[in-house]
Amino acid sequence: MLATVKQISAYMEELAPASAALPGDPVGLQLGHPEAEISKILVALDPDHEALKEAGKIGAEMLITHHPLFYEKITSIDESSPAGSLAASALRKGLHLFSAHTNYDIAPGGVNYRLAEALGLPAHEGRVIEVTGSEQFLKLVVFIPAGHEDRIRDALAGAGAGQIGDYSHCTFQLTGTGTFKPGEGTDPFIGSRNRLEKVEEIRMETILPAAKKREVVEALIEAHPYEEVAYDLYPLALEGSHMGLGLFFALEQPLALQEILDRCRVSLNQEFLRCWDAGKSHFKHVAVCGGSGGSLIEPAARQGAEVFISGDFRYHDLKAAQAYGLALVDAGHDATERPGVAYLQKYLQESLKSGGYETEVFLQASAAPGWK
Ligand SMILES: [Zn+2]
Repeated sequence: MLATVKQISAYMEELAPASAALPGDPVGLQLGHPEAEISKILVALDPDHEALKEAGKIGAEMLITHHPLFYEKITSIDESSPAGSLAASALRKGLHLFSAHTNYDIAPGGVNYRLAEALGLPAHEGRVIEVTGSEQFLKLVVFIPAGHEDRIRDALAGAGAGQIGDYSHCTFQLTGTGTFKPGEGTDPFIGSRNRLEKVEEIRMETILPAAKKREVVEALIEAHPYEEVAYDLYPLALEGSHMGLGLFFALEQPLALQEILDRCRVSLNQEFLRCWDAGKSHFKHVAVCGGSGGSLIEPAARQGAEVFISGDFRYHDLKAAQAYGLALVDAGHDATERPGVAYLQKYLQESLKSGGYETEVFLQASAAPGWK
């Protein structure tokens, strides 16, 4: 079975919800049809001619990139412009184009998390530098015929509901009486058509991350014996873990500048590094941000960062960092985002495989040449 663009987009939404994107960032499906079936996906950093060529070579019908093709609302596809030429070329090749940009930068487990991991930092201990939102939760209430509650609790827990800290399978249940009258054309699990039934039922409630809604509801419907499952979902005002730009780490052991530079060279495959050491050789408080980190210099310094690893630092960013005594390592916009892009391929391939889909996912082998 092949996954459709819509199903693949739903997996992407679980990893990087579109609602997490910065205002005005055009994330999601940029070109194509949601119902199209996809046998091969190419994952790349940029939707450029190099990526389109590689997609054509491997026979991919979908290209998933971090950077969007269109940053603004389009009013025409003018083939004499770079974006218009790419869009026309993708449409002629029947290529569906999807992007996860600032939503993937911001999402827990996104670009910054993967960059930290690649640099050997304890990614799960990172604190968001600029908070833009927080993880959202839902309350699920479901009515279950007595005797079926354990099976349903297991199914819900298996799909990610009922997790509170390190405790899994967290639910609360009460026994009561459910009523229903099966109509014409039904095939009721309990009772018979056109007769009011009163059944001993369990009202079970639990919590789930809003991003797992689809998986949890699917697991519930699969495990529940009723033809029509009665359940409710309520939005909660609880605030989960923070989401936002950049990550800050307070390390137990200081990290040598030379070690940071070596890790950037080896793990990010980046020979071309720029660095200002702020007169120090070791750092305990480290900040990272994939892509362009200039706007985070002040918040990173205010949180106590001693060194900031990112890309695209300009002259005035250096002056701001010098004013704060914050060391900078510029490892390049693309190099600091590539661990996140590589993870997208792995994540999508595993998700599609566990969903029973034969769709294959490839990581771009050769990116367009960059700075020399
Ligand atoms: Zn970027």
